[in-house]
Amino acid sequence: MSFDKLKKEVVDSGLCRICGACVAACKPGVIEVDDGPNLIDECVECGLCTDVCPEINDLDSFGLKELDRERSISVRSRNPEVIEKSQDGGAVTSILISLLNKNEIDAAVVVGQTDSWKPIPYVVTRPEEVLESAGTKFGSAAILSKVRKASQHGEIAVVGTPCQIEAAKILNENGVGNIKYYIGVFCMKNFQHQQLFKVITDKAECDACDIEKIGINKGKFNYKINGSESILELSEINHCVRPVCKECSEFESKHSDISVGSIASSNGWSTLIIRNEKGKKIYNTAKKDLKTKKLKTLKPIDKLAKIKQKQTQKQTQK
Ligand SMILES: Cc1cc2nc3c(=O)[nH]c(=O)nc-3n(C[C@H](O)[C@H](O)[C@H](O)COP(=O)(O)OP(=O)(O)OC[C@H]3O[C@@H](n4cnc5c(N)ncnc54)[C@H](O)[C@@H]3O)c2cc1C
Ligand code: SF4
Ligand code: SF4
Ligand code: SF4
Repeated sequence: MSFDKLKKEVVDSGLCRICGACVAACKPGVIEVDDGPNLIDECVECGLCTDVCPEINDLDSFGLKELDRERSISVRSRNPEVIEKSQDGGAVTSILISLLNKNEIDAAVVVGQTDSWKPIPYVVTRPEEVLESAGTKFGSAAILSKVRKASQHGEIAVVGTPCQIEAAKILNENGVGNIKYYIGVFCMKNFQHQQLFKVITDKAECDACDIEKIGINKGKFNYKINGSESILELSEINHCVRPVCKECSEFESKHSDISVGSIASSNGWSTLIIRNEKGKKIYNTAKKDLKTKKLKTLKPIDKLAKIKQKQTQKQTQK
């Protein structure tokens, strides 16, 4: 089996999630990935890249079932520096720092960004490096392409969207890398980075590097420039949504050990869902660094998950 099959069935047909699993699996190292995977040297047709692609392989066939919610809470980092840089309550950044400080992991794969907000996957081994990855970047980053490099340090954690966590699990089933913990973020949709930032910079008459923060809150897209916040209706950026996201029905990262989002918590807090024993271990390792409060209700999560499923059904019926 060759890279051509993967290219034809997944990449050329617009199904690629840009997860980077194929890059990690390719022992000869002949795939590179930016806006999608490409061949940069001779393919030896070993088929490893197709074995790990989540669009070709079903998680069920590995016996990988979705995990239930065991415990859900609202959390906020106690570290002001983390809060300043993070998207919501800084749960993910705090957790990664705690896992590294307490030697639970040796490295993690995270997403940083260029000055123009292009998402970039990279490996962190020190808390200062984790801080640089705080905040949500809208656009795809092939995080799993860094799994081999990260695993050279020892046991690792990966942070990713639901589709990337699924791919990470398949990678693990194929014996690639040394992933110990899966930290998922909730995800309604993702965007084509260049298109999205063109809309924002045209509207705000600025350069992408002037934008301080971006996010989605209560059904509106918001961005901050010079400390002041502006809003875009989601209908204004709908054409920037990645086509593959319109066919995706997973919202809350049900294959992760612990998943994190903003919905259901107050502003500046993160919603944390613990899903298994490893999720408990992650939380127990980080809990001293987190303020905690009860979640009033999980209904907003269920509502958003249902909306996503319905949107996907409509899209696939078209
Ligand atoms: C594309 C996308 C869509 C999302 N949609 C929703 C939503 O609809 N509802 C909701 O409640 N939450 C959503 N989230 C999650 C939310 O934006 C926060 O990531 C989450 O609440 C964690 O916040 P935090 O303060 O704990 O994270 P932080 O401490 O700020 O850490 C953020 C972490 O996210 C990782 N990350 C950043 N950008 C990406 C990316 N593009 N791909 C993969 N990993 C990334 C970084 O590596 C970092 O570790 C989305 C996240 C993404 C990436
Ligand atoms: S993993 Fe094997 S089949 Fe895929 S590109 Fe690399 S060498 Fe080719
Ligand atoms: S493994 Fe991931 S990046 Fe590679 S082709 Fe499949 S979906 Fe795309
Ligand atoms: S909407 Fe689905 S396919 Fe798109 S980034 Fe989120 S989890 Fe991945």
